[in-house]
Amino acid sequence: MTSSESELRQQLLSWYDAHRRDLPWRGTRDPYRIWVSEVMLQQTQVSTVIPYYDAFLRRFPKLPDLAAASLDEVLKVWQGLGYYARARNLHATAQRVMAEHGGCLPDRYAVLRRLPGLGDYTAGAIASIAFGECVPAVDANARRVLARLLAIREEIAQPATLRYLRDRASALLPCDRPGDFNQALMELGALICTPKNPRCTDCPWQMSCQAYAQGIQELLPLRRARSALPHFTVTAGVIWRPDGRVLIAQRKPDAMLGGLWEFPGGKCQNGETLPECLCREVYEELGIEVAVERPLTTLRHGYTHFRITLHVFVCRLVSGEPQAIGCASWRWVTPQELSDYAFPVTDRKVVKLLQERS
Ligand code: SF4
Repeated sequence: MTSSESELRQQLLSWYDAHRRDLPWRGTRDPYRIWVSEVMLQQTQVSTVIPYYDAFLRRFPKLPDLAAASLDEVLKVWQGLGYYARARNLHATAQRVMAEHGGCLPDRYAVLRRLPGLGDYTAGAIASIAFGECVPAVDANARRVLARLLAIREEIAQPATLRYLRDRASALLPCDRPGDFNQALMELGALICTPKNPRCTDCPWQMSCQAYAQGIQELLPLRRARSALPHFTVTAGVIWRPDGRVLIAQRKPDAMLGGLWEFPGGKCQNGETLPECLCREVYEELGIEVAVERPLTTLRHGYTHFRITLHVFVCRLVSGEPQAIGCASWRWVTPQELSDYAFPVTDRKVVKLLQERS
């Protein structure tokens, strides 16, 4: 250990002790709670996560409660938080921990890392914060801070750059407070060394920061320019039965948004009109014929890798009994019963519309 590494540690930990936020998952060493918080915080703001974290732990206070729940129940509590693969992985991993580890998360990084859905970062966070193991946990905030501290001019998402930053974080890690140090590095990135306008004058590492010394902190970390996201035109049908019930379908578990419910429909193909697309998609998904009666609404939404425009139509069942051909399951429900199911964000807007009008 060089004296500068020792100083960097001390400066960061002193800053963290004085400035850390009082968050619901701080102050616990319960590995299950830390795991839930870390998964929820992936790609999601702290202020968004807090109410979901509280609600999730009220409903599933211990890992065995989560493992015993149905995926539908888990997705319903997760509804609105997005990136639903996280909820499916949490649930599947909880069941695996029950079967293989007696319901307790393993206390070693190497064993945690072998569980499905636990990457380097999450395994490192649980091992260091809950169990005090001296391993790094380097998220996007920590990577940005280190890239600036060391003035890294390589593209940050390159595997070699990621490995190098993880090695540097390991070298800095104090083995008497690994969990605090990991959290301090992320907290510095969240509060001070922010993506835009970093507050270098308030930073405990200002005097050692190479990017600051060179005046390039705003230019780092380097990222490859993003190409424009593809756009898809999508249709969905609100299919009514004469008794006032509407048809919903559950997405297959391995699909994007798997396990969530939706109004049937899908992507338009070349040359198709919107009603033609909807009739084809509903037939392929459920084996029924519908008549498209009128437009209900049009919604736009951006996912991580693409954008959609969703055209929603009111439809009538013409013939056939639904079958789960291109979906996991289906139900006829009243507009009020729609609240019992977990829907993606665009379908939730349709649910709201139907419930306001019923
Ligand atoms: S001095 Fe500025 S750029 Fe460097 S680590 Fe601190 S906040 Fe980030």
